[in-house]
Amino acid sequence: MEVVTTMGKNEYDIVIVGAGCAGPAAAKKAAELGLKVLLLEKSQKPGEKNVSGTCLNMAALVDPDLQYLMKGPIEREIYEMHSLMVAPERTTMFRETPSEGIILLSVRRDEFDAWHTELAKKAGAEVKLSTTVMDIIEENGRVTGVVTDTGDKYFGKVIIDAAGVNSIVGRKAGLIPKRKGQNMILYTILNVWLGEEVVNERFGNSIYYFLAPNCQHKTWPWIFPKKEVVTIGTGGYMDDNLFKGDIKSVNDYMQNLIDLPFIKEKLEGGKIESWGLHLEYDEAIEKRTKAGLILTGESGGFVIPFLGEGMPEAFFTGIYAAETAKKAIDANDFSAEFLEEHFMEKFNENVFLQSFRYVAEFNKKSILTMLDEEIAAMMQNVIIGGGFISNAIHSNWMKGADEDDMSLVQDAKDFYEFIQPYRQVGPESLEIYKKMRAEK
Ligand SMILES: Cc1cc2nc3c(=O)[nH]c(=O)nc-3n(C[C@H](O)[C@H](O)[C@H](O)COP(=O)(O)OP(=O)(O)OC[C@H]3O[C@@H](n4cnc5c(N)ncnc54)[C@H](O)[C@@H]3O)c2cc1C
Repeated sequence: MEVVTTMGKNEYDIVIVGAGCAGPAAAKKAAELGLKVLLLEKSQKPGEKNVSGTCLNMAALVDPDLQYLMKGPIEREIYEMHSLMVAPERTTMFRETPSEGIILLSVRRDEFDAWHTELAKKAGAEVKLSTTVMDIIEENGRVTGVVTDTGDKYFGKVIIDAAGVNSIVGRKAGLIPKRKGQNMILYTILNVWLGEEVVNERFGNSIYYFLAPNCQHKTWPWIFPKKEVVTIGTGGYMDDNLFKGDIKSVNDYMQNLIDLPFIKEKLEGGKIESWGLHLEYDEAIEKRTKAGLILTGESGGFVIPFLGEGMPEAFFTGIYAAETAKKAIDANDFSAEFLEEHFMEKFNENVFLQSFRYVAEFNKKSILTMLDEEIAAMMQNVIIGGGFISNAIHSNWMKGADEDDMSLVQDAKDFYEFIQPYRQVGPESLEIYKKMRAEK
């Protein structure tokens, strides 16, 4: 029987560029909404180069939109967070554990992104791997398609950009501005194979954060254990002081870090699997939509680098972009105003996203004016004072009181009330997790 379709071979409701975090989430949701979807990815296997985002925040995954992700390939459940301050005069270790449940889920991106893309395919999305988008097609000010490295053209009523920090789509569309050094973080990442038994013994279910002289620049190094491998990351904001004295590249920060006796011991006998560089953008983008186009995940600036978080932001914004595209198709309105309104409406309602944005804005402003030693002191306050969110609220509240500025106090109070549901979700998360794993 002949299938009757009103669309040509290379025409889709939605074309999505990038199968990292945001792309598969958008493709799966759009296909579930009954749309004809094409997902394009430049790698041979989704996630094969995405060694970056590795720990999924459970506080986000309990959102009904994201619970399905708990069924994915999880390498290790993280119950504890250790923060180690190595200052010349003293070394301090703090341990943070939640009252119950899991803080983070550690994943390998090569496994996780491939699994997620397969879910999108099962939902009905068409996936083309080893396909790099080189350009966009614009007609009368509206983005209507993309051109690939083989010269093929694919058209969509809505194009979703999920191509990450270096996205060519957002840049070609004029939405991603030229980036300034202080808005970029350059990370160096090391994967060390130790074997499951050794990782269990030396790291268990804990992640580690460090603050140590000459090991980072205005950010904080970390070690995230997977099943058999541990991932170590460090780097810094690309301002004029990233390289100074003996630091000639971010690899020097990494070398200093892994030379710390505490870390050296933990990595002893390990084999380096990979050592790579990654960029992260740290600034809000003014506009994430143009007629026919929505920017999601890291291409849209939905990432909080100082906290090392961007995967939930990418999943959420991918899903919201798909829902917005469906609304646009139903209303036959592809204007930037329509897309922006519906996309940001969902974003602004999300308590998790708002909490982290509040914290990110606060941190960004403060850390760029601080010395690395002052950042270390701030981190101690964060840990002692009950985490990033409490610290941001408390500091803004106190600043308002200090400067006699009641609007700052009021903002902090309003925000405190807004995030209450998010803070109460903790005890349920373990139950949801168990249920999802049982259904896997
Ligand atoms: C060092 C480091 C550590 C991090 N750790 C964490 C963490 O622990 N937890 C967390 O939540 N977040 C973490 N993040 C942030 C997180 O990795 C990102 O925010 C997240 O991956 C963004 O998802 P995305 O879908 O927007 O982009 P990506 O995950 O980068 O996916 C983009 C995809 O698009 C593809 N692509 C790019 N250009 C094209 C093109 N032209 N044509 C076709 N395909 C293309 C890429 O191959 C890739 O698959 C970390 C980031 C870094 C740098």
